[in-house]
Amino acid sequence: MMSKNFQKTISKPLEFEGVGLHTGVKSKIKIRPASENTGVVFERIDVKKNNLILANFKNVSSSVLCTKITNSKNVSVSTVEHLLASFYITGIDNVIVEIDNIEVPIMDGSSKDFVEGIYNTGIDEQTVVKNTFNIEKKIDLKIDNKFISLEPNDNGLVVDFKLNYKNDIIGNQRNVINFNDKELKDVYTSRTFCLFEDIEKIKKLGFAKGGSLDNAIVVKENEILNIGGLRNKLEFVNHKILDLVGDFLLSGYRINGKVTTIEGGHNLSISFLQKLFNEIIIKKEVFVKPIKNSKNIIQKVPNQLAVNS
Ligand SMILES: [Zn+2]
Repeated sequence: MMSKNFQKTISKPLEFEGVGLHTGVKSKIKIRPASENTGVVFERIDVKKNNLILANFKNVSSSVLCTKITNSKNVSVSTVEHLLASFYITGIDNVIVEIDNIEVPIMDGSSKDFVEGIYNTGIDEQTVVKNTFNIEKKIDLKIDNKFISLEPNDNGLVVDFKLNYKNDIIGNQRNVINFNDKELKDVYTSRTFCLFEDIEKIKKLGFAKGGSLDNAIVVKENEILNIGGLRNKLEFVNHKILDLVGDFLLSGYRINGKVTTIEGGHNLSISFLQKLFNEIIIKKEVFVKPIKNSKNIIQKVPNQLAVNS
């Protein structure tokens, strides 16, 4: 039986290929085991130099429709969130993700292939405890009609997510997921989605070039255009919860706390991480209670919040 507290990596290399949702490019990724405290590092193997990009919120260069990370030499990889969510859910901390193009394959629009691939390949427990922190006081952020807060909860991460869509089918879906639960299948199999009437707008902005009914739920008024409909009743909000844990992996920590969010999304999640770490730095240890055996947590908190650094 593996301990939840120790860092983990994948047992053997694992490969995926497919199309990128937004750029439409085909890409291959190879997830390789990595040593303790590596974190998740992307390696753009189609780029000769300066091709490593650490999956950290400080490296987020865009959170419009997907999460894109960029290193200091302007080498980037986009739509990292569903792959990162699969690492969150399977407990993976340290891997190198080789990629031969600019965007992670969207697969079926969820994290299903990634999570199942990791479980089938196997997970190795490492010798160092996970980088974890407990928040001691509630912290929140409001941007327009969007809201997120994080409050103390010693026992892992709980996410209470509420959508607020004018569309009748998506509507006001709400779900509460405790990531200590073993059964997270409804979260990791939930697909990305969009409204039919937004597709042209999104494409005009240069996004969704690889989008199709094979990798996204499309809702047109009161109808779901995908054959077979939804995979679970709360698929829309469950996908947003998946996005949130993928983005939260960019903190570099496992955050113990209860998240409550209304209308959350990539931009709100990343802005919240910036605020969270900013307040931790300003107020020193007020917000952070390092877990037992986990030294140097305060010192490891990033001391710069430059976006696109
Ligand atoms: Zn997503």
